[in-house]
Amino acid sequence: MADSIYIADCAFGKGVFAARPIRRGETILRYRGPRIDRDDPVHHTPGAAMLLQTGVSTYILPDSPAVLVNHSCVPNAGLVDNRRLVAISDILPGEQVTFDYSTSMDDGIWTMACGCGEAECRGLVEDFRHLPERLRNRYLALGIVQGFIARQYRQRPDAAAGFADAAIA
Ligand SMILES: [Zn+2]
Repeated sequence: MADSIYIADCAFGKGVFAARPIRRGETILRYRGPRIDRDDPVHHTPGAAMLLQTGVSTYILPDSPAVLVNHSCVPNAGLVDNRRLVAISDILPGEQVTFDYSTSMDDGIWTMACGCGEAECRGLVEDFRHLPERLRNRYLALGIVQGFIARQYRQRPDAAAGFADAAIA
């Protein structure tokens, strides 16, 4: 495991925490693990919570410690290149490392009740398409949306209009 993180107990079981200051833009860890397909029965068990969607019908079951990274509706990290977890803000020692699971979700199968405790908590973790448009655009601009999802927004003419509206407002 990288020297920048450690595993500890938290409200959701176990989580990944910063062992030292982690700077915005720094790679925290990489997701690796066996491939799981969309028709695998695990999607209909509690184990589905451990999967990371990497394509339209492909997932991986990440190894530790990546599998222990929890969701937050106000994350301090995000996934780039489908597998690499990068800090999107400076993270202090002892702070839990989180990403927004919705940035990797577009399957119409799995949702999760959220108890992250943030004022902005959405209450339910669901597919990227259900995020408020402002948040979708923020994550897309940061480059922390899985490629198979981000592509859909680049191809849609109305996505460009959404960015233009945001710039005026
Ligand atoms: Zn939440």
